[in-house]
Amino acid sequence: MVLIKDGKRLDGRDFDELRDVKMEVSVLERAVGSAYMEWGKNKVMAAVYGPRELHPKFLQDPTKALLRCTYNLAPFSVEERKRPGPDRRSVEISKVTTEALSSVVMLEKFPNTVIDVFIEILQADAGTRCVGLTAASLALADAGIPMRDLVAACSAGKIQGEIVVDLMKEEDNYGECDLPLAIIPRKGEVVLLQMDGKLTKDEFKKAYELAFKGAMKVYEMQKNTLLGSMKRFVGEGGNDDGN
Ligand code: ADP
Repeated sequence: MVLIKDGKRLDGRDFDELRDVKMEVSVLERAVGSAYMEWGKNKVMAAVYGPRELHPKFLQDPTKALLRCTYNLAPFSVEERKRPGPDRRSVEISKVTTEALSSVVMLEKFPNTVIDVFIEILQADAGTRCVGLTAASLALADAGIPMRDLVAACSAGKIQGEIVVDLMKEEDNYGECDLPLAIIPRKGEVVLLQMDGKLTKDEFKKAYELAFKGAMKVYEMQKNTLLGSMKRFVGEGGNDDGN
């Protein structure tokens, strides 16, 4: 499959161009915090429940809260109906998401409790673990749970020998490599880095830099989204048109 034509990608993007990203917080009434994101054709909802007392009690940690992220791909989110329920892939993504977020959430403030984060992929088009993590981090902030910083994510990869940022489905399927990255932007620390495929050292460096830059752009959008939501909350934001 031809992925690059006249120096442009299938959807007309440049190599260092992200898909369109939209984010919104406080979208669910009954969750403590929530976020909805669209990133290209991906549509993702994240909801936070807790902190609340953890049961069964033997799982409780008197020094900190347990963070539990659950990533779920809806049956209607992909081309062929996905069998509902957890599978190896979603268990893996739930685990790496939990680990990434555990390094920013101040879990020590809520001993003996659990904080649940549900990530629902309503429509999938590659890069969903990055969207899920970004949305989950927004939902945690929306819930007012103290965090050292947000987590921002973005992927890069290799298609037809070129290093590009933010692979969409066709590029993920027919490309050579995908490299999702999540960072704690203020510290520049990496909390998730995976690689599916092969890259040379130089290609890796280039892909890493593109993903990092992409995640920093996403971080700016996250901060603006949270700021906008706060302004609305205290009545300083004018109407929803941002006027
Ligand atoms: P990510 O979504 O983080 O890139 P993968 O690389 O594992 O994770 O998946 C790439 C894409 O493949 C997903 O975004 C989704 O569009 C598609 N996909 C994943 N799992 C399935 C599945 N069980 N059935 C159909 N498509 C899937």
